[in-house]
Amino acid sequence: IGFVTNTDPQVGEAMNLELKRQRRNIELIASENIVSPAVMAAMGSVLTNKYAEGYPGKRYYGGCEDVDIVENIAIERAKELFGAEHANVQPHSGAQANLAVYFAMLKPGDTVLGMSLAEGGHLTHGSPVNMSGSYYNFVSYGVDEVTHTIDYDKLYAQAKEVKPKMIVAGASAYPRIIDFERIGDIAKKVGALFMVDMAHIAGLVAGGQHPSPVPYADIVTTTTHKTLRGPRGGMILCKEEYAKAVNKAVFPGTQGGPLMHIIAAKAVCFGEALKPEFKQYAKNVVDNAAALAKGLLNRGVKLVSGGTDNHLMLVDLRDLDVTGKELEHRLDEVYITVNKNTIPNEPRSPFITSGIRIGTPAATSRGLGVEDMDKIAEYIALAINDFENSADSIRKGVTELCAKYPLY
Ligand code: PLP
Repeated sequence: IGFVTNTDPQVGEAMNLELKRQRRNIELIASENIVSPAVMAAMGSVLTNKYAEGYPGKRYYGGCEDVDIVENIAIERAKELFGAEHANVQPHSGAQANLAVYFAMLKPGDTVLGMSLAEGGHLTHGSPVNMSGSYYNFVSYGVDEVTHTIDYDKLYAQAKEVKPKMIVAGASAYPRIIDFERIGDIAKKVGALFMVDMAHIAGLVAGGQHPSPVPYADIVTTTTHKTLRGPRGGMILCKEEYAKAVNKAVFPGTQGGPLMHIIAAKAVCFGEALKPEFKQYAKNVVDNAAALAKGLLNRGVKLVSGGTDNHLMLVDLRDLDVTGKELEHRLDEVYITVNKNTIPNEPRSPFITSGIRIGTPAATSRGLGVEDMDKIAEYIALAINDFENSADSIRKGVTELCAKYPLY
């Protein structure tokens, strides 16, 4: 930031404010993380200067011999990490990866079964405001009204009726294990392609804390910046038979030049994820989420599906006066960062909501452990039930916690 501040104080100051905020706040947004200095350094490197349209060995520009080495390292590590036959590390984001897969495998108007945005899916799984929902005939599946988990028998019945060309599994706000083997079996039975978007759980899959979709899915997409703890970006893994179509759909299908500095950071991230310490990190993420969920339940806070198996949970505020929007705001005031989120059968508007989504990856990377999670559960319960009287003491507690785990 010093380099920026020296030449551009206006931007540098804003960046410094953000660094201060990250140091001051406990980050509980489930899709965020804290990257290593090596990942960050790769992003801010000379590789940003290079155009490299095409793929290693087959570029449309000269001078690509060195970035070819980088991209090949990223590809080989991604394949090793997830046991995949083919990897494309060029998607600029998770949304780009998903759109490239649809472009590769579908024709406009084709029917696709995807998880409803309101019940945990992602915008790119067929929301009408997204290209996916406007170019393809997405039909939504949701979760069971009582258990808040995917009803696989119902999904099978729906798939038989809808006859989709593709089934998309994966979610942005689903606190339970997804049975990819089961959905893969359903897809096979109805003759559909099976795509898994493992963006949220990729780090848990890499660290052995969530069953891998790779053996069961034709194509797997992911972001690299959530639990996987890499740079902001996307990736596609697939069986060899789809490799050519997927590569063509990324470039020249939906993107131009790859971001070589980001691909270098992806390579560094995959290298980190291949180390034994990453398994411990993934276990800590899940242990912390379980401890936080237990702390909340013990204090009478309701959770969608009654708990969590992964890195996130959804607080259910349906029976309370406080809305998701209001609780997000209250927690911001005491330096805890979360996001409001719809819950199954949401009675309020998506701008207000009856839920907040809480995740542990960033706090875990910062070093917080299970005892800290119980404290955080106490703070959140107080913010729900007695905010006026407890705001100052929560802020003090959060400040002490943050001082205990210095950032960068
Ligand atoms: N897929 C899932 C399941 C996500 O949760 C997200 C991001 O929230 C994305 C895709 C999109 O990723 P990006 O924001 O990189 O486009």
